[in-house]
Amino acid sequence: MIRSRILATGLLSLFTVACSGESETVLSQIDNVQKPTSTKSDISVEFDDKMLSISPELLNLAQGEKGEFTIVTQPNFLIDQVQGCGALLNKSKNKVQVMGNGKVCTIKVTSRVSSPPIAVTSSTSGYGEFVALAQTVEQGSHFEIQVKPQQDYELESIEGCGSEYDAGTWVVKNAQSPCHLLAKFKSSFDTPEAFTHTIRLPVVVHVLENDNVQIEDSKIQRQIELLNLHFRQSKLLEDLENFSGRSKIPAAQIPFIADVGIQFYLATHTPSDRPFNGINRVADQGFISAASILGSMYDSNKYINIWVGEKSPEQVDDAVAYLAGTSEVASGISIDYRALANYNRTFDPNLKKTLTHQFGHFLGLIGHITEGPESGHRFLPCGGDTQQSLNCRNQDLLFNYMRNNSVDDNDKRMFSISQAEIMRNWVTSGPLKQLYHNNIDKQ
Ligand SMILES: [Zn+2]
Repeated sequence: MIRSRILATGLLSLFTVACSGESETVLSQIDNVQKPTSTKSDISVEFDDKMLSISPELLNLAQGEKGEFTIVTQPNFLIDQVQGCGALLNKSKNKVQVMGNGKVCTIKVTSRVSSPPIAVTSSTSGYGEFVALAQTVEQGSHFEIQVKPQQDYELESIEGCGSEYDAGTWVVKNAQSPCHLLAKFKSSFDTPEAFTHTIRLPVVVHVLENDNVQIEDSKIQRQIELLNLHFRQSKLLEDLENFSGRSKIPAAQIPFIADVGIQFYLATHTPSDRPFNGINRVADQGFISAASILGSMYDSNKYINIWVGEKSPEQVDDAVAYLAGTSEVASGISIDYRALANYNRTFDPNLKKTLTHQFGHFLGLIGHITEGPESGHRFLPCGGDTQQSLNCRNQDLLFNYMRNNSVDDNDKRMFSISQAEIMRNWVTSGPLKQLYHNNIDKQ
């Protein structure tokens, strides 16, 4: 039975009797005659109190003043529609929001019996996850499906429950019976041509926040995305509009450009196995210090640690790779926040290569191609074991990521095949093999 919750003034009583909550036209006529618009007016709600309870019973609002009613639904009932007074239903908060317009009026909230919930189960293939997927939905409901691929993966398709891709989102338009959703994620990159398999490694980015260091998640995510493009010598780099990525590299050296076949993703779980976006924000003071690095480090046999913070003016250009298996207590890379690449998926030849360069060091490229130990990578043949390249040594590759600080980022554009071999061995059988084996199920 519909019962009006209108309690208030004579004017309202007159209205409810006269128009049964239906006609705002009548209401406004009465209102216009009897009330100046500058005074407050009552807004009430009509609803079925077997299905709903709504509070407050009445709002008394001046013109332009905002107010809201809170709805509590009884078990097995749903809000169906909200009409009148220009009111809007905020479904997620179960609130009806309304603005005073100088007129007495009534909002009509209709409700109905809900159907039994439908179970929605889900699974994934590849690396990614559903975001906030309801385990049950109402029969006939329409819902959007949100997913989050890992950094080096992308969504390929969603199957089941009648899901379809519509105007940029995946949706289920009419859930009718229990069903199963399958999200298929695929690597953003193919298997590398020169190597047998792709290597995937998790990174955690510790943002050492002080008054100057405030970095949005998206900037960090894009930096890792760019790092992957560099390590995978991605065709995407060439596909980006106007990108003439390889044109600076002499034609004779192009065969030695490596797709390293190593890609990185932001870690998905904390050391205590809680869901995680891979970005650990740490309140810090002053410049990056040994204490802040060691205090925030995650187990380096499970994660690659990256610390982003503020370096002192003398050290701002000095990113550091702390090598695992050496006398370093830390393992990972520290970098000044200003040295992060500002990558927006558009062409910029001067994008920072600092992190890419430091990853080269961290993965075993000791020294630069123009200086460093005799036993380092600079004298190795560019093509490594896989290609004849005795007439090319890494020291000849002037557009290599492993140039030193004095070289413009614009002139750092490639790893060689032999450098890629060193890095892969460093991971699979060198100082990082424990890290690799602890993540072997993510390959
Ligand atoms: Zn260096």
